[in-house]
Amino acid sequence: KAVLHWYKRDLRLFDNRGLSMAADKAKSANIPLICLYIVSPQDYQAHFTSPARVDFELRTLEVMKKDLDALDIPLVVESIDRRKAVPGFILDLCEKHQIRHIYCNIEYEVDELRREAMLINKCLDKDISFTPVHDDVIVAPGSLETGTGNQYAVYTPWFRSWVKHVTQNPDLLEPSEKPGKNPSGARNALKALFERSIPPAPANKLLSKEEKKRMAELWPAGEHEANLRLNKFIKERIEGYSDNRNIPAGTTTSVLSVHHSTGTLAARTSVRVARNVNTRQYLNDGKKGISTWISEVAWRDFYKHVLAHWPYVCMYMPFKHEYSLIEWEYNDEHFELWTDGMTGFPIVDAAMRQLKSMKYMHNRCRMIVASFLAKDLLLDWRLGEKYFMEQLIDGDFASNNGGWGFSASTGVDPQPYFRIFNPLLQSEKFDPDGEYIRKWVPELKDVQGKAIHDPYGRGANKIAAKSGYPKPIVEHKQCRERALSRYKAGLGKD
Ligand code: FAD
Repeated sequence: KAVLHWYKRDLRLFDNRGLSMAADKAKSANIPLICLYIVSPQDYQAHFTSPARVDFELRTLEVMKKDLDALDIPLVVESIDRRKAVPGFILDLCEKHQIRHIYCNIEYEVDELRREAMLINKCLDKDISFTPVHDDVIVAPGSLETGTGNQYAVYTPWFRSWVKHVTQNPDLLEPSEKPGKNPSGARNALKALFERSIPPAPANKLLSKEEKKRMAELWPAGEHEANLRLNKFIKERIEGYSDNRNIPAGTTTSVLSVHHSTGTLAARTSVRVARNVNTRQYLNDGKKGISTWISEVAWRDFYKHVLAHWPYVCMYMPFKHEYSLIEWEYNDEHFELWTDGMTGFPIVDAAMRQLKSMKYMHNRCRMIVASFLAKDLLLDWRLGEKYFMEQLIDGDFASNNGGWGFSASTGVDPQPYFRIFNPLLQSEKFDPDGEYIRKWVPELKDVQGKAIHDPYGRGANKIAAKSGYPKPIVEHKQCRERALSRYKAGLGKD
């Protein structure tokens, strides 16, 4: 007999609610705990998961396998081509090892919930208990309501309510124990499971050997690395976070998103550790850098709540239905120049090249390039959303969809569509010395002063032209007018 923990986006041993409950169950019955992770090429394809992300997960599984092995807990990692076959595989595993209890942490996206519903039905038939647990979020969706009993669609009042709820329910931030050792004899009884190795990345998500090496150096995997990064950030940068977080040059933020999104670090752990150095009762109180950082981590919860309450956002629909009728430009050339960082807008190009190279982009730049795609190029924001997922190592459906909705004005944010980012002003404000641009757009490294933000418009034509840097592909002022009239027409306000 045994208990199963099914790992998904919770790739850690410490502070993992589902895993801890599974371990407690196994311990109380004095039976072994078995852990499972499923590699699903069809899901990767359907959800545009980036190869860098798949590689990060597989490297993390190697770290976990070692850590679990030291506790005599086997980690079974199975690659299953067809996602419909997943429940059948899990039930076979249960039958083989007499597993009567399955635990897992909930993923809130529609496909994942459907898969769970299918498994729950099959478990009922076989008299196996299936326990899905809230762990990925600090506050479970459905816990917060507006005064009229609705779900919040605006972040600020939602956040006030979130802070109050966490303060009134301090257990939400308490850590969960790491599992203890499996009973003696487990290693022998489950020998075949311990001998299984981790499968390679599926053919549709392979990285080249060089890219694999580069990614491993740039993004070391696993929960130990995540905790090191968290502690370093808290020690060295968190206090300056609220002043510096919008500056894309250098490292001004925590760069923990890949760990939050794969679950090598629980958002709960991050908030708890930050709160502990802040020593205030309310999470939005105390040192500005710390409370601001906590409020950013809370955005992650917010977008998951939105996803859970309005699941149609998973189906290529804008949160605001009335924005479905905007007539987009379908200009493939513009889209390609945007992805290649060749638009002639230095801040946009720097950011898009950072994405291609690091598989990560600073938050301010995500907003700038997303607004540029949707408003200046007037391309369907869903193309950008998909491209981000295909590139990002920290790709997370809810945060990405929320961020794109925010930038294209089609999402939950109350910001009206006529507030349109000016890429030049954004560049001057957030990269005043052009440090970020010079790093990612080497063609412009010799451009001095303010010309870095607009080389052709500010007298650096020669340097820019000689280096092959493109002229702006569109004119912002005209684009602004076009966006305003198309959005207006789409909303029937003409
Ligand atoms: P920090 O500033 O240190 O913030 C701490 C943590 O809070 C982050 O690690 C992240 O988990 C969370 N967080 C911060 N800002 C946000 C936010 N606006 N929304 C949700 N969570 C947030 N984030 C992702 O994790 N995955 C995505 O796929 C993603 N796509 C985005 C797309 C667009 C168009 C935009 C505008 C934002 C997107 N974000 C996404 C949010 C944000 O840009 C990243 O979380 C952040 O840049 C990660 O850097 P960091 O870890 O240094 O963040």
